[in-house]
Amino acid sequence: MSPITHFIGSWLVASVVTDNPRDRKIVTLAGVLPDADGLGLVADVAVALIHGKEPTFHYYQQYHHLLLHGWLGAIAVIALLTFFARQRTRVALLCLITFHLHLLCDLLGSRGPSPADLWPICYGEPLFRHPIWFWKGQWRLDGWQNQTVCVVVFVLSLWLAAKRGCSFVEVLNHRLDGVFVEVLQKWRDRFCARGPKVEPAD
Ligand SMILES: [Zn+2]
Repeated sequence: MSPITHFIGSWLVASVVTDNPRDRKIVTLAGVLPDADGLGLVADVAVALIHGKEPTFHYYQQYHHLLLHGWLGAIAVIALLTFFARQRTRVALLCLITFHLHLLCDLLGSRGPSPADLWPICYGEPLFRHPIWFWKGQWRLDGWQNQTVCVVVFVLSLWLAAKRGCSFVEVLNHRLDGVFVEVLQKWRDRFCARGPKVEPAD
């Protein structure tokens, strides 16, 4: 799935199961960081720009879904993040959940344009080749199923943000989150205040 869906979906889970901003941020990041192994894309584009050639996507294809989408990546990401947590044991378990939720979502919807372009989860990588998991019915990355999940997760997150007073923006910037939530709550109040018009009795 797209990094945006991973990000908002992980924040949704984190916001339900944690009770403080720091742990919420950490549990959210555990659901996003597996895709850091796709940053080779930046190197690919940079190399192409420097040499004035078309990008080959060498680093992206070499490392994406292979470095941080397995058990070793899980240990590394969770160990690093949990170090900064308030409730370490609890947060480690929650990170384990959001990390593997990321893998499950990728298994469901990371396919390329053609039906044969399946993207497996190589859970043993980068140390071992096996196990390798794939699903023949995998959705296209830009397919309607992925877009539907993204919209549902996004709407749910806005609803929860207006209710709880914090949103996924808090992971990026706390002050900006305050402004964002204030706007959301104003919209919600305006929308709810409208309601059905009742005609006054004679
Ligand atoms: Zn991924």
